[in-house]
Amino acid sequence: MDIHYRRVLLKLSGEALGGANGIGLDPKMLAFISREVKKIRDIGVEVGLVVGAGNIFRGMESTEFAIDPIQGDFIGMEATTINALVVKEALSFIGIKAMVLSLLGENKIVDNYHRDKALKYIAQGYTIIFAGGTGNPFFTTDTAAVLRGLELDADVVLKATKVDGVYSADPKKDPHAQRYETISYQDALAQNLQVMDQTALVLAKENRMPMVVFELFRPDALLDLVRGKSVGTLITE
Ligand code: UDP
Repeated sequence: MDIHYRRVLLKLSGEALGGANGIGLDPKMLAFISREVKKIRDIGVEVGLVVGAGNIFRGMESTEFAIDPIQGDFIGMEATTINALVVKEALSFIGIKAMVLSLLGENKIVDNYHRDKALKYIAQGYTIIFAGGTGNPFFTTDTAAVLRGLELDADVVLKATKVDGVYSADPKKDPHAQRYETISYQDALAQNLQVMDQTALVLAKENRMPMVVFELFRPDALLDLVRGKSVGTLITE
């Protein structure tokens, strides 16, 4: 069987882990995602996961008190650890060896991120879940995904979203919106895509890291993708 991508970095937004409204943690969704990951692990694909936190914390609109924006970013990064730990349990439950490495440092439940450690364990068949985003405020977990993808020498960064790729217009508003099969980094940057953080795109462009935006919620989409079928939108040179 042909495998197109042998090592992938999959970015799961917090929203993807939440229920219908993208809030909290939905066991059905977590179980579904775990099964999809298992399908590619079973054919030997090596997997790194970066998780977001939009389902738990994305700043706080409040008239009661204000949260310092940088402090808010740290809270967001901490929230990714909750998601990472829950994803690890969901993966472990169906027999996927998984570990969480954190960019925010070690504590009683997560190990510190170290590139050598990540490379060693990924080669041993562990699915590594990266918590803590980039470890820095002002960034997003999209950027963390590209960084980890580059450090792990992944073949591709896969961004799972609720839409099945990049469109010429908002498909919810414009019935003539067309999905691109591929789009250049330059065009993706020029269009100021909502679906992808600009910093992440620039980093991917400068280092020629291909990215695919796709809808994870179609069964087998991830499997089809790693086998080289055209799924979602490939962002490349
Ligand atoms: N965040 C951050 N630095 C990072 C990654 C995340 O400060 O490197 C914070 C930021 O406040 C962000 C929140 O954590 O809003 C959640 O991350 P993100 O928005 O990427 O999550 P997603 O939208 O993928 O669920």
